[in-house]
Amino acid sequence: MLGPPGSGKGTYASRLMTIYGIPHISTGDMVRDEIRAQTELGSRIKAYSERGELVPDETIIHLLTDRLKKPDCQKGFILDGFPRTIRQAEALEGISEIDLIVNLNVPDEIIIQRLSNRLTCRRCGAIYNRVTLKPKRDEICDKCSGELFQREDDKPEVIQERLNVYRTSTEPLIEYYRRANLLRDVHCDNLTTPPEEIVEKIKSIINNAKK
Ligand SMILES: [Zn+2]
Repeated sequence: MLGPPGSGKGTYASRLMTIYGIPHISTGDMVRDEIRAQTELGSRIKAYSERGELVPDETIIHLLTDRLKKPDCQKGFILDGFPRTIRQAEALEGISEIDLIVNLNVPDEIIIQRLSNRLTCRRCGAIYNRVTLKPKRDEICDKCSGELFQREDDKPEVIQERLNVYRTSTEPLIEYYRRANLLRDVHCDNLTTPPEEIVEKIKSIINNAKK
């Protein structure tokens, strides 16, 4: 799944995980797990993300190589947040075979609206939105009653920087995959489009690719 931060990659990927019975592998979550576990790697990663910068390739590739070796990946997997550069894509080709790239097209103003209203559960990682996906009780997770908070990198001043980083480093990748004929575009131009609608579009892309 390719798309800027806040394009809904994580939401769609986790629904597709349930539908197809293959793991959703979010490199962002893997990185946050390292930070939460306060490993040495985690503290180095934390410094990058707080500045709105990308974590170095070697670090992510190392984490991902270990993850893709696990038995649950044998029937396939959905990657979310990786690759972000052509160099990462080339490294990925050395680890595994990629069948399809779903490219989410979402305008900047929708992303800024969505991310600056996003809340994350401190306990289970569930994602909410003050506008489009409100929790039943204010600032409390519906699933686990954990506390909801705004991630450091969802603050408005960091969002624009993240989008700039994305446009600069990832857009050449879109061309790379388009030339390889692996890329399929999905458009989402409205903040209130229900996730189910986008998931249906992605499912029909996957089903067409299987034929
Ligand atoms: Zn929760």
